[in-house]
Amino acid sequence: MGEKTAASENRRNPGNPGLQGKPGERKERKRPEKPLLLVSACLCGQAVRYDGRSCPVPALCRLAEEGLARPFCPECAGGLPTPRLPAECRGSRVFHPNGADCTAALEAGARLALSLCREQGLTAAVLKENSPSCGTHWIYDGSFTGRKTAGMGVAARLLRQAGVQVFSEREWEDAVAAAARASTVSLNGRGTDQAE
Ligand code: SF4
Repeated sequence: MGEKTAASENRRNPGNPGLQGKPGERKERKRPEKPLLLVSACLCGQAVRYDGRSCPVPALCRLAEEGLARPFCPECAGGLPTPRLPAECRGSRVFHPNGADCTAALEAGARLALSLCREQGLTAAVLKENSPSCGTHWIYDGSFTGRKTAGMGVAARLLRQAGVQVFSEREWEDAVAAAARASTVSLNGRGTDQAE
């Protein structure tokens, strides 16, 4: 593996002002003291989904690399393995397709997500849409047929009830802007004009 230089970083990350530097010059990046956003770990490239895969959003992966986003998976934190059976919400409970009730694990993970937000002062979260834990607007309807319904996942609902602003991955710029308003840490203008 060759050494990373500011120039190579710039080629890899055009449009990211936090990584800009003169060609051939090593650029020291100042890490923030703490992250500003909680983000679903799968959106940051971590292979924690039920099927053992991830669903990375490049902008969120970069925020995690820079220490501005704190990746977190409520289902893993709640004790579920990866890979695992899929799960869908039916009312206030969550089930696997075989009928097993996994609500307790998802609720435990949601409480840990909230504890993390409180410990680290995180006021906003970017969460994976459609997930029974992380869905912010839509979740699957419990029939395991691919149908979706308006609703929130277990962790998203608990965070919102506790006052954490929750956003889907399509709204990540709004989340960055909300976190920036609540923080003194500079985000180099992100959240306003740097859509992927
Ligand atoms: Fe991603 Fe949330 Fe599902 Fe974990 S629980 S894999 S973070 S959507």
